[in-house]
Amino acid sequence: MENNKNMRAWLDDFKLSHPLVIAGPCSAETEDQVLAIANELKNSDVSIFRAGIWKPRTRPGGFEGIGETGLKWLQKAKAETGLLMAVEVANVSHVKMALEHDIDVLWIGARTAVNPFAIQEIADALKDTDKIVLLKNPVNPDLSLWLGGLERLYNAGIKKLGVIHRGFSTYEKSKYRNNPEWQIAIDLQNRFPDIPIICDPSHIAGKRDMIQEISQQALDLNFDGLIIETHIDPDHAWSDAAQQVTPDTLKQIFKDLRVRKETDEADDFNNRMNKLRTQIDDLDAKLLEILGKRMKIAEKIGTLKKEKNVAILQSSRWHEILGKMVLEGEEKGLSEEFVLKLFKAIHQESISHQEKVMR
Ligand code: PEP
Ligand code: MN
Repeated sequence: MENNKNMRAWLDDFKLSHPLVIAGPCSAETEDQVLAIANELKNSDVSIFRAGIWKPRTRPGGFEGIGETGLKWLQKAKAETGLLMAVEVANVSHVKMALEHDIDVLWIGARTAVNPFAIQEIADALKDTDKIVLLKNPVNPDLSLWLGGLERLYNAGIKKLGVIHRGFSTYEKSKYRNNPEWQIAIDLQNRFPDIPIICDPSHIAGKRDMIQEISQQALDLNFDGLIIETHIDPDHAWSDAAQQVTPDTLKQIFKDLRVRKETDEADDFNNRMNKLRTQIDDLDAKLLEILGKRMKIAEKIGTLKKEKNVAILQSSRWHEILGKMVLEGEEKGLSEEFVLKLFKAIHQESISHQEKVMR
């Protein structure tokens, strides 16, 4: 796959204003629900209506999607609102049904994106299509796997391609449902600056109160669009209830977003600055998260020492650690003075956490 300015052409084709907005429920549930949401979203910033018809659920027993009947509701919603329709496809039969029902945009979900066989079959079924095809990142943080999927679609002659960044799953708990790992999206943009990239703050956040902030970060990083799960009654949604917003909240989110243009010189400076700042903010948040975890472990050590009646400060171990950190810090371009100050502060905090549990 080569860089090719034409990859962005489909965005202009639709004269879609920046950013491209895709919104709609996680899942199509009933005809009334689909039509009510679509009607609320028409004449807004939204250009494309999304709804999951087949839902990949982590465990069996949950709502697995309404199936083919839902596609008829989408056709009706399109006729009523003029919005383009988008669904997730995970296999060839989904692709066939979506095409039969005149769906405009097909996206490949994160769980499918991990499987080259599945992507290849979908790519073959979509050969030379003029539909818009969007590939979500695979659930695991692997840029080459994401790019590999993209190449399979590109090689099948699909011209209207884009990617969706929906974050990456981790075993450890974090404040996100799926860690954004912005660096991976930035690396993808640097490799293929012309491929439209859309952020999915709903699946990154997992809860609705973080959607505004993540959307802003995405715009600051020059993303081309946002896909935001929107439901008429989010709390009673049949899937992903915690992360969906109402159409009114969505409109407010767009009112509050600072949309930046990419074009003029001054903006170029701001864009680059914002990109770097977002990376710094991301790393700072990670630093705090790691420090928090470190202190929790210190507390466990405190509990253990209390049980065995051992003193908190064990200075031989501490000096050994410091010496090692100074050397490792040097390799990373950090001064000895900084490393000593930093670890003394961390150690001090660690001791007070241990004291707290030993009291
Ligand atoms: C979805 O968009 O509803 C979905 C299932 O997303 P993902 O593939 O990102 O988990
Ligand atoms: Mn969802």
